[in-house]
Amino acid sequence: MIESLNRVVVSRSALRHNFSLCKHQAANCGVMAMVKADGYGHGMEECGRVFADCGAAAFGVAEVVEGIRLRRAGVEQPIFVLAGIMAEFFDALFEYDLTPVLVDGTLIQPLAQEAVLRKKEIAVHLKVDAGMGRQGFPLTELPGIVAAVTSRKGLRLQGIMAHFPMADDPSSVSSDRILADFLQAVTGLRPDIQQQDLCLHIANSGGLFSVDGTSLDMVRPGISLYGYGASGSGGVQGTQEQQLIPAMRFVSRIIQVREVPAGTGLGYGHIFTTDRTTRLAVLPVGYEDGYLRVLSNRARVLLHGRSAPVVGRISMNLTLVDVTDLGEVQVGDEAVLLGRQGREAITANEIAGWMETISYEVLCLLGHCNRIEYVD
Ligand SMILES: *Cc1c(COP(=O)(O)O)cnc(C)c1O
Repeated sequence: MIESLNRVVVSRSALRHNFSLCKHQAANCGVMAMVKADGYGHGMEECGRVFADCGAAAFGVAEVVEGIRLRRAGVEQPIFVLAGIMAEFFDALFEYDLTPVLVDGTLIQPLAQEAVLRKKEIAVHLKVDAGMGRQGFPLTELPGIVAAVTSRKGLRLQGIMAHFPMADDPSSVSSDRILADFLQAVTGLRPDIQQQDLCLHIANSGGLFSVDGTSLDMVRPGISLYGYGASGSGGVQGTQEQQLIPAMRFVSRIIQVREVPAGTGLGYGHIFTTDRTTRLAVLPVGYEDGYLRVLSNRARVLLHGRSAPVVGRISMNLTLVDVTDLGEVQVGDEAVLLGRQGREAITANEIAGWMETISYEVLCLLGHCNRIEYVD
């Protein structure tokens, strides 16, 4: 079969390594592996299988449709749908045994009614807004909502969660405050409810690695499973986080090598003009592949284990690299746009810097635009 010259390569052993590091960091409490966004671009089905084999307690996705995909891939653990539950998806929740996270009171009654109709009981988790300001019940409403859920036949309150807005910044004090408020709200619940052994969870990667005491009953790492720190930029990293191993590489191959004289304008808009006789490697990569135009004249790629600059505009399917200072490069040679080659590496944090964004976005983008190959 003929495939694109561009491919994302994902290392299963890196995923496994990162999972154990998270598990260890969480003092062995349950790990909900976040595989939303197609496993942050790494492919949710395969990541789901790998993390399930590693002992993931549960999986987290954003939408119902993702939960269905994960079930169909053979994942048997609980699958949490963290956003985007609507009454029109109730059938699928029951059919695929997905666990809804309720973020407001509107679905309590209709979901309970649906469960009773089916003579079933559905486990639900509640999301409180302990300071994220995005989704969830205000903390003050928690007792009322808990009462509303527990009093209804058909619903089983299984857990309560919150999310940190600033756990990516270890120097932020607000995470301690949010954790304290969350725990206080839960301890304020009726004793009979507290005796039900609720599953409490709050930690994303930032919480897990940078905020003390956040593991509770379960943790929800995402980015760290894929090998990157929660800062999204490589900025602030603890010693544990530094041991994560990036799982994704993005590689292409040289399709042409050519030499141009000094004074040659390169590509659309001639935003780069050569100042010497220049040897160029042409790569069949462009913004269509998630290698965005903003990387023009900014990015670097690895060839023969050495770094070389992208010159001129990145177009839809072509990128030029100045290889004048490299040894012999040839058509067919591997070019690494993300990841390691020899002793050099380009990280998603670095690319994020060139793009003025965060590693999360780089991984999603490259993963979604390209075919993914798995290696051990
Ligand atoms: C995405 C997400 C996470 C994981 O966040 P990371 O920063 O990638 O670790 C955890 N919890 C919730 C609710 C999320 O939406």
